[in-house]
Amino acid sequence: MTDTVKLPTIRLHAGRQKRVQHGHPWIYSNEVQMDQPAKAVPPGSAVRLVDAGGTPLGIATFNPHTLIAARLLTPDAGAVIDSAWLAERLARAVKLRERLFDRPFYRVVHAEADGLPGLIVDRYGDVVTVQANSVFMDRRIDDILAALDAVIAPRAVILRNDSTQRALEGLAEETRLAKGELDGPLRLEENGNAFFCDPLGGQKTGWFYDQRDNRAYIAALCQGARVIDFFSYNGGFAVTCATRGAASVVAVDRSQPALDNATRAAEANGVAGIFEARRAEAFQELERLANAGETFDVVIVDPPAFVKSKKDLAVGCRAYRKMTRLAARITAPGGFLLAASCSHNVDPPTFAEQVARGLVDAKRTGRILRSSGAGADHPVHPHLPESAYLKAITLQLD
Ligand code: SAH
Repeated sequence: MTDTVKLPTIRLHAGRQKRVQHGHPWIYSNEVQMDQPAKAVPPGSAVRLVDAGGTPLGIATFNPHTLIAARLLTPDAGAVIDSAWLAERLARAVKLRERLFDRPFYRVVHAEADGLPGLIVDRYGDVVTVQANSVFMDRRIDDILAALDAVIAPRAVILRNDSTQRALEGLAEETRLAKGELDGPLRLEENGNAFFCDPLGGQKTGWFYDQRDNRAYIAALCQGARVIDFFSYNGGFAVTCATRGAASVVAVDRSQPALDNATRAAEANGVAGIFEARRAEAFQELERLANAGETFDVVIVDPPAFVKSKKDLAVGCRAYRKMTRLAARITAPGGFLLAASCSHNVDPPTFAEQVARGLVDAKRTGRILRSSGAGADHPVHPHLPESAYLKAITLQLD
């Protein structure tokens, strides 16, 4: 659908325009004059945002029922938010990725940082997955599909609408093909290797491109190394390490379909001979190996988010600490440990603290070689530092 220039007007309380004027893209519901007309604006509308005195601040998406009531789309109050506008933003995002990468395998749109709040698009060559995390984006899915056709012309599009953010916006879960067909796992390329994923299957996710640089970094330390990768999923870390001269690599995950994709990748890259897929509960396997006194030269622990909401912070932090303690126990002297967290509720200093405590618990010393985040196809909005959710710490242990 196309919004005409006659957009509803949403007025902020006195003084509440400052953050927006300084570049922050969000307006909280208590900052909006939530009168009857504002409450009656259909969720997902584009609105004209004005300060208490009526001075325009720009155009925003609006949902009167969510804590973040408005998300700025543009400070240009005269902009027309239609399918051409969406296509222009998408084209800009694709152009950046084409500059960053040789091959068409990357996150295309990373929400606010790409000027498209609530929208995530991942690309697997001529197949894309789309996640609409706001009512605004959900209502414009046809425009988004048209823009994708104009800019990327994918042969298949998967709607992967299964995020927790959707529930906050009152949207239903659905994962389905919106265009084309899929036959078997999707093939993708990363760091010069082939990988496989199944964005329609039981796991509901495709590929975690955010770890691309961190995989390349640890893999470069793997010459002759015995490597173990916990929470391996489709083998992103494990297989990259295997192709960079590791002596042996074990991928540990509790999901058989994930391990099958990892094994397929090991075969496709000619490293099946040194690769083992091990189905196990990660903490149990870590305990077992530690108690057996087994060690590895490179240990990778990149689990799912342990802190899914703020109330899980204490429990999740303990889990990161325990994970580091066990991983450190099985890291050989002089070996390397990469610990990661994708919980956006855990900030980098808090994660670093859990890792440091885990080392002490394991009675190990060492040094941090690198603290890193997600790759450049997951850019960060300058005013939303908290959207830098991924943390990876690489250490050498004594
Ligand atoms: N490291 C991966 C991403 C991890 S996704 C990468 O680089 O792509 C989380 C993975 O952890 C999933 O594959 C899931 O099956 C697995 N997982 C979650 N909890 C687990 C547990 N307790 N034991 C083993 N695997 C687990």
